Amino acid sequence: MAMIIDGKAMAMGIRKEVAEKVADLKKTTGVEPKLMVVLIGEDPASTIYVKNKEKACKETGINAETIRFPAEIKEEEVVAAVKEINRQKETHGILVQLPIPKHISEEKIIEAISPEKDVDGLHPNNLGRLLKGGLPWFVSCTPMGIMEMVLSTGVEIKGKEAVVVGRSNMVGKPTALLLLARHATVTICHSRTTDLKEVCKRADILVGAVGKPELIKGDWIKKGAVVIDVGINRSEKGLVGDVDFKQAKEVAGYISPVPGGVGPMTIAMLLKNTLTSAARSAGYHLE
Ligand code: NDP
Repeated sequence: MAMIIDGKAMAMGIRKEVAEKVADLKKTTGVEPKLMVVLIGEDPASTIYVKNKEKACKETGINAETIRFPAEIKEEEVVAAVKEINRQKETHGILVQLPIPKHISEEKIIEAISPEKDVDGLHPNNLGRLLKGGLPWFVSCTPMGIMEMVLSTGVEIKGKEAVVVGRSNMVGKPTALLLLARHATVTICHSRTTDLKEVCKRADILVGAVGKPELIKGDWIKKGAVVIDVGINRSEKGLVGDVDFKQAKEVAGYISPVPGGVGPMTIAMLLKNTLTSAARSAGYHLE
């Protein structure tokens, strides 16, 4: 029976630490970390995510503001707004809630964000630095959370077979790069991977970031593996991940649940990145 990686409890611990550091940063430098969220349209899931982010910021002493645009806004207006936020000295983090309406280029909007305020780590400058094995200003929040969860198990990553299912720029690719940086032998799978089950079975560390409810079955998992489930899928059973949790927990060594796994860790990492950005701007040494 697998040990549960309790993302919710881990995230609460991180949030407490962030709150303490935010308080000290304010006291010693007068700088209050600020996150600016850009929300375009009224997608119900995005609206909930943004609300949760605002609430988490407030609870840790981070100032959060959301700029809301109607779905039909023009691309150049969003670019101009993002550039204006870049110039605001009091704002340390900018996050554009994805997905955005189809008539607006996601690439153009992300490239408009200053890499030094790109707390979501999606700017090519940040992704490129990660690819080169250098130090990005920020690493994308979900992959950061995933790594913290893998590290929390104490299982050595070096030399292990890691399989990441999903190759998005936000989750799959950066997660693979972070595992590679820690010397795992990494395979990235996607919708055209043949015999996904056999590839998954090789994994000592398996990350599911697909968006397909319970795609990864118990018999796809190597005995004792670390399994991180990133998926958030609404099904008739309620919220489920990309991994069949009931089956997988019988085989895996460690497994993260949905909900209460990667989701809360992603928010905790966003708070951490915003604090890091504010601390950098104030010349305040964290740790
Ligand atoms: P994307 O849709 O951008 O990417 C999904 C990836 O899965 C693609 O690379 C796609 O392949 C691959 N894929 C799709 N179907 C299959 C299949 N049958 N077999 C193998 N691979 C497949 O999703 P994201 O990376 O943004 O998100 C993935 C999941 O994680 C979603 O459920 C999302 O809601 C969740 N998520 C959770 C977060 C959290 O905080 N917990 C944060 C971000 C995302 P191809 O490239 O070939 O199309």
